[in-house]
Amino acid sequence: MCSSGGSYQATFSHRCINAAHEIGHLFGAGHEDSAAPYPSYAKAYHWTEWFIYDRYTALWSSFMGNDMCLEYSCDTRHGDASLHDNARRISETKGVVAGYQ
Ligand SMILES: [Zn+2]
Repeated sequence: MCSSGGSYQATFSHRCINAAHEIGHLFGAGHEDSAAPYPSYAKAYHWTEWFIYDRYTALWSSFMGNDMCLEYSCDTRHGDASLHDNARRISETKGVVAGYQ
């Protein structure tokens, strides 16, 4: 998003999603195709809204522009407990991250 000598062009919304993406990694959340050391259930999620609009959670590996959503995959919304639950992983690791000094 930033070429040499250029300026950063991402919108505020895109920057928030990017920040959420990287913070998610710090808490052990993975991409849609992440393998170990990420747990098998901690993957990003994709869904189709109104049968035509593709949507992606914040941990999707490629930035998908306005189709990205500022949310983590979760077993209760835009995800499932078996493969797409980044929120669970973040919740599990928050105590470890809080202990870093
Ligand atoms: Zn990433």
